[in-house]
Amino acid sequence: MDILQTPIEYLKGIGPNRASLLKEELGIKTYQDLLHFFPNRYIDRTTFYAINQLPKNNSEVQLKGSIVSHKIIPQAKGKRLAAVFSDGTSTLELVWFRGYRWIQESLKSNTPYVVFGRLNWYGNKVSIAHPELTLVEDYKQRNLGAFHPVYPSTEKLINKGISQRVVKQSMEHLFRQVHKEFVETLPEFILEELKLIPKKEAIIQIHFPANQNQLTRAQFRLKFEELFYIQMQLLQKNRLQKQKVKGYVFEHVGTLFNEFFSNHLPFQLTQAQQRVVREIRNDMGTGKQMNRLLQGDVGSGKTMVALLSMLIGLDNGFQACLMAPTEILAQQHFQSLKEGLGKMELNIALLTGSVKAAKRKEIHEALEKGSLNILIGTHALIEDKVRFKNLGIAIIDEQHRFGVAQRAKLWRKNKLPPHILVMTATPIPRTLAMSVYGDLDISVIDELPPGRKSVKTVLRNDSNRLQVFQFIREEIKQEKQIYVVYPLIQESEKMDYKDLMDGYESLVREFPLPKYRISIVHGKMKPKEKDFEMQRFVEGKTQLMVATTVIEVGVNVPNASVMVIESAERFGLSQLHQLRGRVGRGNDQSYCILMSSHKKSKEANTRLQTMVQTNDGFEIAEVDLRLRGPGDLMGTQQSGILQLKIADLLRDQELLKTARIYAKKIISEDPELSDIKHQKVRTTYSKITTHKNIWNYIS
Ligand code: ADP
Ligand code: MG
Repeated sequence: MDILQTPIEYLKGIGPNRASLLKEELGIKTYQDLLHFFPNRYIDRTTFYAINQLPKNNSEVQLKGSIVSHKIIPQAKGKRLAAVFSDGTSTLELVWFRGYRWIQESLKSNTPYVVFGRLNWYGNKVSIAHPELTLVEDYKQRNLGAFHPVYPSTEKLINKGISQRVVKQSMEHLFRQVHKEFVETLPEFILEELKLIPKKEAIIQIHFPANQNQLTRAQFRLKFEELFYIQMQLLQKNRLQKQKVKGYVFEHVGTLFNEFFSNHLPFQLTQAQQRVVREIRNDMGTGKQMNRLLQGDVGSGKTMVALLSMLIGLDNGFQACLMAPTEILAQQHFQSLKEGLGKMELNIALLTGSVKAAKRKEIHEALEKGSLNILIGTHALIEDKVRFKNLGIAIIDEQHRFGVAQRAKLWRKNKLPPHILVMTATPIPRTLAMSVYGDLDISVIDELPPGRKSVKTVLRNDSNRLQVFQFIREEIKQEKQIYVVYPLIQESEKMDYKDLMDGYESLVREFPLPKYRISIVHGKMKPKEKDFEMQRFVEGKTQLMVATTVIEVGVNVPNASVMVIESAERFGLSQLHQLRGRVGRGNDQSYCILMSSHKKSKEANTRLQTMVQTNDGFEIAEVDLRLRGPGDLMGTQQSGILQLKIADLLRDQELLKTARIYAKKIISEDPELSDIKHQKVRTTYSKITTHKNIWNYIS
């Protein structure tokens, strides 16, 4: 029996009540879990500050000295106890607002104390409120001059008496009981090459660090281990999937592709587009199912890559489909594909929720017969009634609107699964993509079509409104078009709707008919009306488009040159970036005007400043990740990423890369992990997969 799998309630000092609290609040069920419950910070009690050299901030410090005098001072509300503490270099005040009578009685003058607490500066005067006060004698006896771990906690745990002290004591009991059970989990050659400390030492040092240096080495070792086994899992999953899931072989690039490429391509592909098309072509020729994620910033030209990929499918006798997240976007893809492929004899249809029953039936039949070559649509594509004769490739645009389950639904329609290309403009930092989508192959379009000028972004407020209007007027004079976007947040829908309508009316007053024409699109309109309004803007019949975020994804009107975003502080970073991506699609200079009130949170300010400073989607994604943490990012819920206990995806990017390199090397050399030198990896890996928890394998 594996002692580390012992339920936590059997640990000395825990018992059933505390055990159930620990389980509820922190997910700690076994000895194993407690062992891998890592401190989230440490308090350095190894050094002492001199009072005349204290840092001028509110940090926590440790001092050695004695109490010179103390008295109780009445104040506006209640009283306080104030003591003058001296260490020979200078003095500071120790203050208590609660329990002061009892404390005063116990204070010993002219006796050496160790003081620990947070500094509180008031001008040039400094004090510490409710300090931790220990007699130097006791301090020495209890070995307090060390690194003290601070464990994550919750209010409930503290209220129910599970304090830091209780956790630390439990940890001590645990170590006394299980210290013989630690087993090394990394192979010798990795330990040597990376100079990692053994598992046993690492796990002791992480809970009871002797000094900063030891702690750093323990953290490094455990971070590596964590990242390494996540990568092992992802890469193995990818390998098994490729092995298991056969795919159609698209052997040739045929007439359709070539004809389109030589005669109908409206522009030259960028280097990046060419590279990605090559990657896709290779994938589809291997006999394995393609599962590829295509990342490309807004406007990088993903649609053309999609079109070319579909043509390869058609050339090999298969059907293709393209699924978009909104009706407007599906419509737009349909239009541009029809135009692009106009001179070629292909059968293309659009299937969305608003397609009438009769037409729908016609489409269903043509699909099953195989006379329909390409189907574009929304979620309607994955309804059970939709059956392809032979779907060879499915493309999903702007994937963050679709779940994994929906993706899978598409492939259940065939004997073999179609090749899948998922396109997203939501940039994910590369290292994160590696972890989240480790089981997808990734292509990146990292280059914009030539001639694009980066969008100029400015931050404005209400007092600048007249200038903004004037600017819009001038752009319209140059025959440009303008977006004005309002937030629409579900919870405050009514208010938001009112803002939108008020804004629309004031724009109508400012830009009156007949000289100016304004489109409006929002969620309360019927799809037909939306399309009509959208279409007028696309065709240049209206100069302004007032909208909620429905235009966020994918809309392409190259003549639009200004994006005004109202209440910009209420949008998230990736949303702002998406919106800005609607302009700057033609050859002229474009602008993004972020309207915002003066009152905004620090975080909102960081978002807006980031938008002003950079156009680079990856940079923006990094900031977003820093602000929100990976938990919020799309797709992360399905991955092991949330289980990260010690590594940090942002700060440990380099280590993640190293871990990935090792994992890749091992898997390519010895996929079954049967080599003796990989034995530790094999045992550990099989434990992870049975326990489904990355840290559940130590024993
Ligand atoms: P996204 O990647 O955001 O989906 P699109 O595919 O909508 O971008 O392309 C944005 C615009 O750039 C479109 O007007 C498209 O025709 C144009 N475009 C795409 N690739 C090129 C290229 N290689 N050269 C010039 N223009 C291009
Ligand atoms: Mg697009």
